[in-house]
Amino acid sequence: MADALGQISIAELKGIGPAQSQKLSRLNLYTLQDLMLHLPHRYEDRTRLTPIVYLAPDQGAVIEGDVVHTQIQFGRRRSLLVTLRDDTGQIAIRFFHFSKAQQLSLAPNRRIRCYGVPRRGASGLELYHPDYSNALEEPLPTTLTPVYPITEGVSQNRLRKIIQQGLKRPDLALGLPCLLPNPDFPDLIDCLRYVHAPPQDADVQRLMTGLDPHQRALALEELTAHQLGLVKLKSQLSQRRAPALIADQALINTFHQTLGFTLTQAQQRVIEEINQDLGKPTPMLRLVQGDVGSGKTVVAAMAALVALTAGHQVALMAPTEILAEQHNRSFADWLAPLGLTPTLLTGSMKASLKKQHLADLESGSIRLLIGTHALFQEGVLFERLGLIIIDEQHRFGVNQRMALRDKGRNSDTTPHQLIMTATPIPRTLTMTLYASMDCSVIDELPPGRSPVQTSVLANAKREAVMSRLDAACQMGAQAYWVCTLIETSEVLNAQAAEAVLAELSAALPRRSIELIHGRMSNSEKSAIMARFKAGEIQILVATTVIEVGVDVPNANFMVIDNAERLGLTQLHQLRGRVGRGKAQSYCLLLYQPPLGPLSKQRLAVLRDSQDGFYIAEQDLAIRGPGDILGERQSGDIAFKIADLARDDDLLPIANRLANQIASRSEETTQALMKRWIGVVERYQQA
Ligand code: ADP
Ligand code: MG
Repeated sequence: MADALGQISIAELKGIGPAQSQKLSRLNLYTLQDLMLHLPHRYEDRTRLTPIVYLAPDQGAVIEGDVVHTQIQFGRRRSLLVTLRDDTGQIAIRFFHFSKAQQLSLAPNRRIRCYGVPRRGASGLELYHPDYSNALEEPLPTTLTPVYPITEGVSQNRLRKIIQQGLKRPDLALGLPCLLPNPDFPDLIDCLRYVHAPPQDADVQRLMTGLDPHQRALALEELTAHQLGLVKLKSQLSQRRAPALIADQALINTFHQTLGFTLTQAQQRVIEEINQDLGKPTPMLRLVQGDVGSGKTVVAAMAALVALTAGHQVALMAPTEILAEQHNRSFADWLAPLGLTPTLLTGSMKASLKKQHLADLESGSIRLLIGTHALFQEGVLFERLGLIIIDEQHRFGVNQRMALRDKGRNSDTTPHQLIMTATPIPRTLTMTLYASMDCSVIDELPPGRSPVQTSVLANAKREAVMSRLDAACQMGAQAYWVCTLIETSEVLNAQAAEAVLAELSAALPRRSIELIHGRMSNSEKSAIMARFKAGEIQILVATTVIEVGVDVPNANFMVIDNAERLGLTQLHQLRGRVGRGKAQSYCLLLYQPPLGPLSKQRLAVLRDSQDGFYIAEQDLAIRGPGDILGERQSGDIAFKIADLARDDDLLPIANRLANQIASRSEETTQALMKRWIGVVERYQQA
């Protein structure tokens, strides 16, 4: 029986009772459709027998032979060792877990067939835990064998059988109607039949890499479903109301005069784009991308100024206290001459002060609030929030952004949102994760910046690096020495940084060297940053806490320890802390040999390029999207089959199809989203 969307429950399949349904639900399999879209992550070729003499390490094969010997070995681990022979040779098969029944079924003179992947072991090639059976009369499969993601209580074989059963159902097409008008691609049902049971002569390599046309057709449908989610998001947002904010031109002029520098063309263009949005009675949702140092803060200040002079409150949220304080200072410098003073709200603030701020916020006497995660916590209420600015958005989850937005939402208006990111987002991701936003790019650096001279050096050069650093400090430079660890533990990071501090202090006794790390209290961190900014500290030994946003123009020298451990995007962010002033800047990437080929490639990309967009594209190609966006957001782009790096050429097609479908049929839209995304809520908030 099918439900409203033509869905056939998995319980309708033969042999699936409540207990089995329960287990399948752990894999999010509820309907025939879910089952059909549960796709193999690899394949095995079990279609032919291989003579034992031809077995090769790491290449799966089916063999058939007689058991000549069975024994239990008591070594470091107890195991059952079976010797199997055919006309061409013999091989050892080993089981570390086995039952009495298994032992008996593998007694000498039994003939078995098994599939396994030979590995080099104690006695030459061995098979560990192969699939085996005594049913020699059964023909070999004529299709490749799919391997699925499984869960406890649902074995690979069981799942294969259930899916095969599903494929044979006469009502399959009813449960999975064709939804994409898609003449250039194979039909959905054909695709599913193919990917669950590829013919013997299918190109396995192509299937394994997801490049088979049947897989690509499915990927296109999936991408289209996600694009539909984004199209819907955008249209929902456009139906909400927002205050139309019009700038006070006289104040804007004064602002320009007090700045002390001229805005770049790119900054002016982006400000213009923002002002256009703010002037409309629908909420802005704009992402500003700009490479490190491109001057996003002043663009944000300009937007804030517009909203403030139009009589609305503004909230700016930054991912760290150091950064919130830095913004607070910049905004105060720029806006105080106009009579607008920001207020800082952070988690580490004294409770009484926080309470006072919250009261002032609610009464409306605080107009501009700058802070950290503390901003979207309970008890924070705005009187008239007109604009939300989020800095370094990849540090926040989508839900955190929503939470802040909802604080300013009343029955009839939604605040405008300006989102800034220094992690340049490759085009493929802009077209997926961020397609519901409008996008502005600051593609120009303020004048007078020269590229950071970057070198890649083995750790053996450490002493030479230290004397170079010493000489640079002698000439008035300030430097960061960044310590990195693989472990995400701040305790270990802090220890490593302390060791480096001791090392540098001993080697460079004339320098004033201090330490900053994530285990320090926020007030300690701020005090250190303030002294560094004031020039009292020459070398700042730091963990990656300084990665995001910190701006000290006089710092023009950076050493990164164990640079091979960090991703490209993160290294680029770190390097962006230097090269902010007029003087030539240097970044030395120290690595611990031996360097693998990928790491070598990564560091070379960084040495040869300063272009954040190029670097992000390379990072995407080398490591995939999750690493660029950080853990928080990578969960938002979990696809069943599509892969953004591999299938990016399908995005424009998916985008076009989505717009077509959205304008024609709400029913198809819902059905596609349900099919591929399941929980549609993910795209229900803008
Ligand atoms: P990011 O885009 O990385 O957030 P910031 O906003 O911190 O960059 O700006 C980096 C530095 O450049 C700051 O010291 C800022 O005052 C300065 N700056 C911004 N715009 C200009 C400009 N048009 N001309 C000169 N300096 C600028
Ligand atoms: Mg910034």
